[in-house]
Amino acid sequence: MDYSQKIARQIAGIPRSGIRDFFELVQGREGVISLGVGEPDFTTPWHIREAAIYALEKGHTSYTSNLGLPALRKAIARYVSDFFHVEYEALTEVLVTVGVSEAIDIALRALINPGDEVIYHEPCYVSYSPSIVMAYGTAVGVHTRKRDGFSLKPEELAKVITPKSRVLMLNFPTNPTGATASREDLEGIAKLCIEHDLFVLTDEIYSELRYDADEEHVSIASLPGMKERTVLLHGFSKAFAMTGFRLGYACAPQPITEAMMKIHQYSMLCAPIMSQMAAIEALENGAPEVAKMRDAYHQRRDFLVKRLNQMGLSCHSPGGAFYVFPDIRGTGLSSKEFAMRLLEEEGVAAVPGSAFGESGEGFLRCCYATGFDDLKLAMDKMERFVGRLA
Ligand code: PLP
Repeated sequence: MDYSQKIARQIAGIPRSGIRDFFELVQGREGVISLGVGEPDFTTPWHIREAAIYALEKGHTSYTSNLGLPALRKAIARYVSDFFHVEYEALTEVLVTVGVSEAIDIALRALINPGDEVIYHEPCYVSYSPSIVMAYGTAVGVHTRKRDGFSLKPEELAKVITPKSRVLMLNFPTNPTGATASREDLEGIAKLCIEHDLFVLTDEIYSELRYDADEEHVSIASLPGMKERTVLLHGFSKAFAMTGFRLGYACAPQPITEAMMKIHQYSMLCAPIMSQMAAIEALENGAPEVAKMRDAYHQRRDFLVKRLNQMGLSCHSPGGAFYVFPDIRGTGLSSKEFAMRLLEEEGVAAVPGSAFGESGEGFLRCCYATGFDDLKLAMDKMERFVGRLA
């Protein structure tokens, strides 16, 4: 059978993830040090795991309300109020999802009509452009630059807004660059969104992982006039090291959560109950462990930035997330060639910047959610590799 004729055109046109391509090469190789996967190396804190175990022990194995457990939505509304300084009505403006991944998908499907333009800043998380296309939108990437710390400048955003622009996707701190956005830039971006009637989808999954004391995390949802035109997405995967729990949430005005719910109730029904119960524990008592993990990431960031610059790969010090994005253009290799050869010759896996969009070419994403011993070894090996290229 010719299966190519059986696959929907919209899906057939979506490229495979550059990360997946690369990791298929890594699989099966012995002794590789991976700076590749964007996943905490920490196990979920014990008291959070215990809450999930307790949920099972107590026989909590059912569906929950489609929106999520009321107790969890209340805990989320309190946390978002304390952390992001935005007030949401727990029972109508908070929707619990299966990871931020599901929230991105259903928010886009709820907000855009075929052909609407969705703007996002690039290099970006690999799912954004495909998710826009799967929602029948047109993906419009704005390139960000090393000299701006890969942050989105309002003047660059202004250049790509058209009458068809409908949604702006933001992600600060950013995967893959670790970029953060200043309050001033966010205010400029917010002004443009209000002027051009854009809705904002802000993925703040790395917001707890900020390292520079002189910088505060500002959510665009907290700026004047923005809550009513913003969907704030957050989750448990990164800061709480809960990737396998598959839990996230969206906070938005009630008509928007209601529209997202229409999709969620038929596609997912609800997020897993034991994960939801564990998440209540995470929000209520998880702060000390989050702080410990953040301190560890902070030390690793400083170490990597120093070593990469010392070996001649210029690398800005990103304010957040757990990635560094060194400039490898001086080596004369493409990001794919660099990553392939580093893997072949030294057994170190990092992701070519091109996997995150055109503007990622010339850079490499190194994830530092890896223990210090491995990071040190990886840097020694990379230095030897770069030395041979010189
Ligand atoms: N958003 C960004 C920016 C990410 O980097 C990731 C995972 O790497 C996700 C969303 C997916 O998060 P979740 O595990 O909550 O689906």
